[in-house]
Amino acid sequence: MKMAESQITVGNVEVIGLSDAALDHRLALDRIFPSVPAEAWEAYRQTYPATFGGRHVWHFNVGCYLVRSQGRTLLVDTGLGPAGGEIANSLQAPGGGCLFEELRSAGYRPEEVDVVLLTHLHRDHVGWNLRQEGSSCRLSFPRARYIVHQADWDTFHRPEVQEALSLTYLEQAITPLQRLGGLDLISGDLKITDEVTAMHTPGHTPGHMSVIIASRGHSAVITGDVVVHPAQVADADQSFVYDMDVEAARQTRHRLLERIEAEGMVMAGGHLPEPGFGRLVRAEGGRRWEALQDQREWSALV
Ligand SMILES: [Zn+2]
Repeated sequence: MKMAESQITVGNVEVIGLSDAALDHRLALDRIFPSVPAEAWEAYRQTYPATFGGRHVWHFNVGCYLVRSQGRTLLVDTGLGPAGGEIANSLQAPGGGCLFEELRSAGYRPEEVDVVLLTHLHRDHVGWNLRQEGSSCRLSFPRARYIVHQADWDTFHRPEVQEALSLTYLEQAITPLQRLGGLDLISGDLKITDEVTAMHTPGHTPGHMSVIIASRGHSAVITGDVVVHPAQVADADQSFVYDMDVEAARQTRHRLLERIEAEGMVMAGGHLPEPGFGRLVRAEGGRRWEALQDQREWSALV
């Protein structure tokens, strides 16, 4: 990946798309997005071939974003992590775990990250939080504050949720953050700089957050898992099998997409085709997601 293609500027803010992995999902499409009508998939196959690993297979990016604003460096999500191989196996796909190579080729060291914002606590968003060293572990981003929403922290530590989701990764990638002194639990929204805000967008998980960027009259949003496939842009009612509260997720998706469209925001989704930057366009009465064709050209316009 050439960095120029995965970087945009939003006013004074730089946003770099980093891919930890790209995988085929082991569940069939109609199980992952259970309410998308079977006949609708053909049009998506034509328009978004990069999101298919086969006729009924979802191919998805495990994306993270580096955001530079007012001298601060923010990393949004940490991918599948070192267990990427093992997790990839459970997803029936090879690969995983190249966030640090991506970070390096973008010209950044882990020590330079000031804030790690975890959109939510599913395992494909927290994988590189910690590094194992023998029997102990340390923060992968040693200077960073790790921001987690209180509602996710509480939910993912409930025994019945852990049992239901077999959350062994929690002990490896999340719970030690508190003991290691890196954790900031928040409730509601949080202004990270004058230009960057973490916004509570519940539904996919109770403490899910999106990142709003606004600078010099331009704006963008990193949606986390509010939207993971263009099918959910075309029809915001379409749920994702991992939405923990389907109705709350639906309402949040409607609200966020309406705002993105009304304000002409660039939209970056971690599971949309790499590097995940796109915009919403109106066509034939409907709304659809369109990848930014040339990030440099777009940047020059702003
Ligand atoms: Zn995800």
